[in-house]
Amino acid sequence: MPIEIRQFACLADNYGYLIRNRETGDVAAIDTPDVGAINSQLDAAGWRLTHVLNTHHHWDHAGGNLALKDKWGCKIIGPKAEAERIPGLDVAVGDGDVVMLGASKAIVYDTPGHTSGHIIFYFAEDAAAFVGDTIFAMGCGRLFEGTAEQMWRSLSKIADLPPQTKLYCAHEYTQGNAAFALSVDPFNEQLIARAHEVDRLRAEGTSTVPTDVAIELKTNPFLRAADPGLQAALGMSGAGAVEVFAETRRRKDNF
Ligand code: ZN
Ligand code: FE
Repeated sequence: MPIEIRQFACLADNYGYLIRNRETGDVAAIDTPDVGAINSQLDAAGWRLTHVLNTHHHWDHAGGNLALKDKWGCKIIGPKAEAERIPGLDVAVGDGDVVMLGASKAIVYDTPGHTSGHIIFYFAEDAAAFVGDTIFAMGCGRLFEGTAEQMWRSLSKIADLPPQTKLYCAHEYTQGNAAFALSVDPFNEQLIARAHEVDRLRAEGTSTVPTDVAIELKTNPFLRAADPGLQAALGMSGAGAVEVFAETRRRKDNF
């Protein structure tokens, strides 16, 4: 059953998402970055919040849980592996679990790396994945609690989704990510073209999110650790993908 998606910018550079099952009217907030923004979006749409789906415990993702639960009595669903850090958690989920929003079905994937228990929600029927801070347009989350090897595996799960899958990331980091991507993958024609396009969109104040799997496979250096061109640009020809990914992530941390 298809979902309706309402996307809005909030805080400094976050995106909030409200998703609604058209048949049952169930509405979920993907993470709770900004209670005021979420409530005014609900008001504007005339929707009632029934669920919260948390990707990880960071304050800009779960910080609004209790205030929203207080107001709406919504059910909070979040990562099993960080259950004690998710305020108001009702249902703890992990890899392979199914979450129903009315008649709409999401599959949960564990994607540790940014945090130890990060999860994403994949709505196959809608070709939509809510990916939190695991992947961004041309970027990926910082490794606060996980290893490069874990994050590489997590990103590989996203890379393996059908190419048309839309990736709803939690931040507008695209322009900065493009600048970094060009520094490690300078001869990638599609990346160069995309960076120009992103500059144009941002100059107009247009969102560059969602992205999709197909374009990330071609332009996101964190998915391209096995690419000979990127490896050569890093001086790491023939190295293992995890090693190349780890080096790329280190360089981004110091960019
Ligand atoms: Zn985070
Ligand atoms: Fe975040």
